[in-house]
Amino acid sequence: MQEFTKFPTKTGRRSLSRSISQSSTDSYSSAASYTDSSDDEVSPREKQQTNSKGSSNFCVKNIKQAEFGRREIEIAEQDMSALISLRKRAQGEKPLAGAKIVGCTHITAQTAVLIETLCALGAQCRWAACNIYSTQNEVAAALAEAGVAVFAWKGESEDDFWWCIDRCVNVDGWQPNMILDDGGDLTHWVYKKYPSVFKKIRGIVEESVTGVHRLYQLSKAGKLCVPAMNVNDSVTKQKFDNLYCCRESILDGLKRTTDVMFGGKQVVVCGYGEVGKGCCAALKALGAIVYVTEIDPICALQACMDGFRVVKLSEVIRQVDVVITCTGNKNVVTREHLDRMKNSCIVCNMGHSNTEIDVTSLRTPELTWERVRSQVDHVIWPDGKRVVLLAEGRLLNLSCSTVPTFVLSITATTQALALIELYNAPEGRYKQDVYLLPKKMDEYVASLHLPSFDAHLTELTDDQAKYLGLNKNGPFKPNYYRY
Ligand code: NAD
Repeated sequence: MQEFTKFPTKTGRRSLSRSISQSSTDSYSSAASYTDSSDDEVSPREKQQTNSKGSSNFCVKNIKQAEFGRREIEIAEQDMSALISLRKRAQGEKPLAGAKIVGCTHITAQTAVLIETLCALGAQCRWAACNIYSTQNEVAAALAEAGVAVFAWKGESEDDFWWCIDRCVNVDGWQPNMILDDGGDLTHWVYKKYPSVFKKIRGIVEESVTGVHRLYQLSKAGKLCVPAMNVNDSVTKQKFDNLYCCRESILDGLKRTTDVMFGGKQVVVCGYGEVGKGCCAALKALGAIVYVTEIDPICALQACMDGFRVVKLSEVIRQVDVVITCTGNKNVVTREHLDRMKNSCIVCNMGHSNTEIDVTSLRTPELTWERVRSQVDHVIWPDGKRVVLLAEGRLLNLSCSTVPTFVLSITATTQALALIELYNAPEGRYKQDVYLLPKKMDEYVASLHLPSFDAHLTELTDDQAKYLGLNKNGPFKPNYYRY
């Protein structure tokens, strides 16, 4: 097991900084409020648990929480009608019959809806968490009760994290033929530990920027031995999850942790990509004075045209009330910036990993850390100045608030379709490379979500279709179209 602890990822202890689901906060009560403190001390690895059918093919915090978890899943299903409708439409055909999917994602009510959809479509699933904090224990219990081999609990150690992944892959008499990954840790583990497993793998579906980056690196080095689908860059993922999800959840995360009022507050948002655009739009709507920092002139110009002042962080760092990073980069907020911030400045990160704010530089003897709330630390300078650091620089919205279920439905539907496509593709359609989901499928994901809004699409006439050179049923845009 020591070996597991030492296992290096390309981004160091990235798994500790992976995005964290809503359930990872113990400060909110809308969901996951069930806790059984009596068994908090005992590691799930030490416990003997069986579900009501006598199976012990799982490792969760407490199987007794299953009923509560089932209710959480049912709540999520309400706003994931597109995924449910995919489940219903394809249930008869069972397009994933024979698929043995090993998954590594956040284990939340919304992912449970995805996992159960994959099972309804014929797949067998084994699942681990892609983040040590993000598992909703009761949801994991509900999945285990329903017969899914799930190995995950909230608050895993790094060692537990790799142990859980290993339990999903290293199984007597069961070999996966599909991988669904979020962050690339599972894929990396299989490459390192069980490369022969790839002989049977028909494809990898990867959700995150980081994981996709790793896949492209493998592909470039000629080491990718199966086809992979980059779900992150599907339009229906990027333009909805990154933009709309953050637009909705940034304020929630900040308010739950700090009760801050935004009207008239000065906020600097680092990075004006999809996430930055969402954050800026939400803050502006509440009357905050928003500054943007950018390295890319195109995004900087977009920010200007949207009415934001583009500045260098050093120019505004003394005056701002809130600093938000959304660059996907590292060391965007340095110790020097932190030293210059004014008293009570709130600092947080909306990017994927916890490298954007140099939190390590704050672990020095002259600074005092005071945990004032769950996910809220006051870092106190010798002169009494306090900086309010949220979620220790990890993803704010996923650590401290909820993420809109509807957006997750879009991403989950994209993942399900990517799995179906790779699993059923005729030999030779996909080579050992990284692919984007076919545009038509992206459009299909969107169309499945339109009924929720009672939206009515206009149909092209034959004449119009001819004029535009399009098929009446899509795809409606070329691959290079940017939306
Ligand atoms: P993006 O590439 O569209 O935007 C990032 C922007 O940051 C780019 O425009 C880039 O030019 C800019 N940038 C890079 N380094 C910078 C620096 N030093 N200073 C200022 N600007 C800089 O990416 P995105 O889709 O906006 O995602 C950003 C991050 O957020 C990624 O890490 C992504 O994984 C993560 N993400 C978070 C959530 C969430 O729910 N919080 C959702 C999706 C994505």
